[in-house]
Amino acid sequence: MLVVMKKDATPRQIERVIAAIEGQGLTAHAIPGAQRTAIGITGNRGSLDRNLLETLEGVFEAIPVSKPYKQVSREWQPEDTLVDVKGVVFGGKSLVVIAGPCAVESYEQCRTVAQAVKDAGAHLLRGGAFKPRSSPYSFQGLGEPGLEILARVREEVGLPVVTEALDPEGVDLVEKYADMIQIGARNMQNFSLLKRAGRSSLPVLLKRGMSATIDELLLAAEYVVSEGNPNVVLCERGVRTFADHTRNTLDLSAIPAVERLSHLPIVADPSHGTGRRDKVVPMARAAVAAGADGLIIEVHHDPAAALSDGYQAVLPDMFRDLMAELGQLAPVVGRELRSGTAAAS
Ligand code: PEP
Ligand code: MN
Repeated sequence: MLVVMKKDATPRQIERVIAAIEGQGLTAHAIPGAQRTAIGITGNRGSLDRNLLETLEGVFEAIPVSKPYKQVSREWQPEDTLVDVKGVVFGGKSLVVIAGPCAVESYEQCRTVAQAVKDAGAHLLRGGAFKPRSSPYSFQGLGEPGLEILARVREEVGLPVVTEALDPEGVDLVEKYADMIQIGARNMQNFSLLKRAGRSSLPVLLKRGMSATIDELLLAAEYVVSEGNPNVVLCERGVRTFADHTRNTLDLSAIPAVERLSHLPIVADPSHGTGRRDKVVPMARAAVAAGADGLIIEVHHDPAAALSDGYQAVLPDMFRDLMAELGQLAPVVGRELRSGTAAAS
């Protein structure tokens, strides 16, 4: 249930409504808005009596929230959430581009790719130190030494870092070295991981599971937000279908669907979404045209030697050309592409 206060409701009336909600053993979340305050209610097992709430002084209306998720819904918060990662803001007018290798392989590799993407105008550096691989015999990532490399490269190159945590212990480590926690497709419903990320002060990049519906994605985000971390960026990274010309099918319709249902920002990952180098750039353009708040792109200077996902990594030159194209495309869809970390807001 969401209680919408009248525009001229006094602070005292708001306090009384909160007290009435809490008096019933429920939790009240005051959401101050530009025009009026709303108060969300959680903790109820069944439906609440809206008539009772609507008789309280200063209340405009009580709206039942019909979706299974609450705090991430547009009903709960009509304004877009802005997620700030060290001055890079997701969810505003600026298009945010995250780029880097699939995995951190060595200091030299990470530094080379990071410098190339920074020079091309990327805003955040990606790179996995813990890799969720289908085979236990594939490269699993460098672990903590990989995070140390990322932290060093972050300082040298000047880009904030997003990197994946596979489990709650991994979040402890990512918090020590990085600026944003990635939760991967395979872990979208790892509930203990989601809850741990919800208790973190770092923003979260939450990728859609490969067979997850939009409701399941938003419920996963609700796990993070309901633990107290409002800073969640969603990511469409392709779903499993019968199509075999790509690794996954990038579901670009998820972008306008999420935008209607939720106030959280959403970015697209055309690298995992297609799994083929030649399809990354066209689908990156398409994602921006569909309204994505940003992109996450895998880049490698020597893809043939990459330890993971080399076949979908674009070369630094291709990435530079893509950034130039995005600079032209962004204004067509009411966006801006600013270069450099400090400028992105
Ligand atoms: C990744 O970003 O490298 C990754 C493993 O992505 P996903 O979880 O979407 O497969
Ligand atoms: Mn990858």
